[in-house]
Amino acid sequence: MNSPFADKPGEACGVFGAYAPGTHIANLIYFGLFALQHRGQESAGIAVSDGNRLTAYKNMGLLSTVFDHNKLAGLRGDIGIGHTRYSTTGSSTWENAQPAFRAVGHRSIALGHNGNLTNTSALAMRLGSAAGTTDSELMASAIAEQIHKDENIPLPDAIAAVVPEFEGAYTLVVMDDTSVVAVRDPRGFRPLSLGRIGDDGWVVASETAALDLVGARFEHDVLPGEMIVLAEAGVTSSFPQGTAPSRLCVFEYVYFARPDSILAGQNVHAARVLMGRRLAQESPVDADVVVPVPESGIPAAQGFAWESGIPYEDGLVKNRYVGRTFIEPEQMLREQGIRLKLNPIKDTLDGRRVILVDDSVVRGSTTRQLVELVRAAGAREVHLRISSPPYRWPCFYGMDTSDQSSLLAAHRTEAEIAKFLEVDSLGYLTLEGLESALPDANQTFCNACLSGEYPTSIGDHKFVLEQP
Ligand code: SF4
Ligand code: MG
Repeated sequence: MNSPFADKPGEACGVFGAYAPGTHIANLIYFGLFALQHRGQESAGIAVSDGNRLTAYKNMGLLSTVFDHNKLAGLRGDIGIGHTRYSTTGSSTWENAQPAFRAVGHRSIALGHNGNLTNTSALAMRLGSAAGTTDSELMASAIAEQIHKDENIPLPDAIAAVVPEFEGAYTLVVMDDTSVVAVRDPRGFRPLSLGRIGDDGWVVASETAALDLVGARFEHDVLPGEMIVLAEAGVTSSFPQGTAPSRLCVFEYVYFARPDSILAGQNVHAARVLMGRRLAQESPVDADVVVPVPESGIPAAQGFAWESGIPYEDGLVKNRYVGRTFIEPEQMLREQGIRLKLNPIKDTLDGRRVILVDDSVVRGSTTRQLVELVRAAGAREVHLRISSPPYRWPCFYGMDTSDQSSLLAAHRTEAEIAKFLEVDSLGYLTLEGLESALPDANQTFCNACLSGEYPTSIGDHKFVLEQP
């Protein structure tokens, strides 16, 4: 985690792909990634092709640090992909930034990945040490291997040949000189949507908010297991591995996705408000004021307030520019702890019985400081309400919570958690409550971190799992 205050799972990654004849596509991809910056702040990259030559640029840092006018101008072509990365496997280094790039003979490919494979070590063993250290690099090597065997193989065929070897979560955008291929794993852990731009352009993006930002019209969600090809001949769709029951990540709705995105037909903000309403029904408490933990807790706090009739007020103000600093605070400042990130509004809190609402508690250290802060501002009682169930099991599908021992709820009962956080009462949303806020038409979800029921083999990771 690069934030010293991180109490949430790190986001996954953001991917974007586009083909719009006659445009300077790098600019469009830049703005698409801009809308996906919340999904990964460690590195950013764009690859484009003018039909003959694939050019890529990537670097560490935020999109606005990595790209400037000149760098974008140098990326010529009307077809391309982009990526923002949060490292979930492999270290945070330039080599591991994406897109991953491979040159095979006269052809080049670039790949961006969101998710985590669960069989990385088996893949690494088969492909050899030169193939890369991260799951994403290994996937690029596996595709390159197909091209090495047959240099005329169309890119979609090369991808279709290797995806059965990938286990776990992968939403990929892959390109060569003439096409962009987008593919979701058969369970569709990570989202991807398709949109149209202009008369004959197409884009794919991790979230619909990125389609909105570039002025694309939403077409449909790429389905679990679906492979979409964007090329001069138009858009084609196939299912190289058939389909499996959908397992879209429930945490996309709880925390990761932007509130203005629509996932599987459900607006994320509306889902969060519903979670808050449901939480108020499940865990009511007599109090004076409902206060969100900004910004993640805001919609659920609104829902809680509307449902309970208890007034909603801002009681904590977020210092917006501190969250993703690359400068470690000095020890003296560090002792200020949470205050660097959030400052209380004494007028709201002093002498009141406060319902503090957040969307999730993963590690717990920040929440504990926050409760202390609210009390120091004069709150008479602090009732913590969390609009998702206890996060007890590690995620192997693209969130950085694979270390189970760091999870607050892994080995504690709710009473023990309440004691640790020093709250007067604690209420988590039930899993049924959470899922009642989500779309139900043909949609099922991964909730492994909340239920311990992993929808796939967890391959490499079996050894780390303990019963909470
Ligand atoms: Fe999402 Fe949790 Fe499943 Fe990971 S384990 S994909 S965070 S629901
Ligand atoms: Mg990963």
